[in-house]
Amino acid sequence: MEYPDHRRIGRQLGIYATDESVGAGLPLWLPAGAAVRGEIERFIVDLERRHGYQHVYTPELAKRELYERSGHWAHYRDDMYPPMQIGGEQVVLRPMNCPHHILVFEAEPRSARDMPYRLAELGTMFRYERSGVVGGLSRVRQMTLNDGHVFCAADQVEAEIAAILGLVGEAYAALDIPAPTLRLSLKGSGPKYVGDPAVWTESEAMIRSALDGLGLAYGEAEGEAAFYGPKIDLQVRDPQGREETLSTIQVDFHLPARFNLCFQRGPVKERPVMVHRSIVSSMERMVAHLLEVHDGSLPVWLASTQVTVLPVAADGLDHAANVRAQLRQVGIRADLDDRDATLASRVRDAEQRHVPYIAVIGRREADGDAVSVRLRGGERLAAIATPAFVALVSAAAASRSSHVPPSVQVPVV
Ligand SMILES: [Zn+2]
Repeated sequence: MEYPDHRRIGRQLGIYATDESVGAGLPLWLPAGAAVRGEIERFIVDLERRHGYQHVYTPELAKRELYERSGHWAHYRDDMYPPMQIGGEQVVLRPMNCPHHILVFEAEPRSARDMPYRLAELGTMFRYERSGVVGGLSRVRQMTLNDGHVFCAADQVEAEIAAILGLVGEAYAALDIPAPTLRLSLKGSGPKYVGDPAVWTESEAMIRSALDGLGLAYGEAEGEAAFYGPKIDLQVRDPQGREETLSTIQVDFHLPARFNLCFQRGPVKERPVMVHRSIVSSMERMVAHLLEVHDGSLPVWLASTQVTVLPVAADGLDHAANVRAQLRQVGIRADLDDRDATLASRVRDAEQRHVPYIAVIGRREADGDAVSVRLRGGERLAAIATPAFVALVSAAAASRSSHVPPSVQVPVV
């Protein structure tokens, strides 16, 4: 059996390309891929903003000293690119965004009233993956992570974990991917893990208490923690049944201590806890996963082309162009296929591209300002007035939820 593979589907839909002159693990996002990625980026930024996050932009480079201070240089250097010598300084491409967000937290004095202080960024970062393992969108050397860090008081951690799990639930529902299973990833043995064992025990207890309080079941995996703290990994399965981590929540006492972070509570300086979290993973991984779990048939709001307009013959072309213009006017990604080919072959082509709506324009539709609609999957709607069709597609895209286009009651011409 042939499993959905995002590399094959990606080629079919024109999602990304690779080029030797750019190099391995550095895909170029083509217009269709950029459309899908752009939707995910807008979606997650909106969702985070509604949940009290503030978005920032931070540089993709930093002096080597920043990563020495954070501990990444000592513990993570094998996954980083070598430093660039600039003047008397060494600058590195960042492998993670956390230190930059710490500097944002530090940029102004913080008080207990600012807590929880929730920062998010679609942060681009760089990982040195060996050339043998890079490929497609899932193993890349540059990725843009839906990253975020919550700085909060220790007694706020559990509520923040619950809120983050809520965000994950909302996001997965909209992306129409099955709910993940939870894995508590714990410290293993070996020199990789830093910090005081008592602090590890405390952060682990906080995570367990949050999960138990929510009545959630979870597995456990030793040796899967981040070097600075335990984490909740949200595990999904690809169509082959292989498990991967898309979302994570990490409770970290270590970096706030290393950077000597504090906020003021009355006369007292208090150290915040840092919760690292990603809701929808990196854009590269999420798009690869979506293409595979949906076998290319993305939900309407994510589809790279949402409507293909097909004039049956030349006399329908003006109306077809007009329908496309009206769709584009309301933000729908619509194209028009007036190639000199049979209607059946153009329909087949649109179906192979998993376009959710095919709008067929014959003489009757052109005369009556209407369209005949075929839904993805083959269902046909009766001819409907153009404004009703535009409203229908627009509502389906705006809802950011429906997977299969809704077969609703619409005015029949
Ligand atoms: Zn982080």
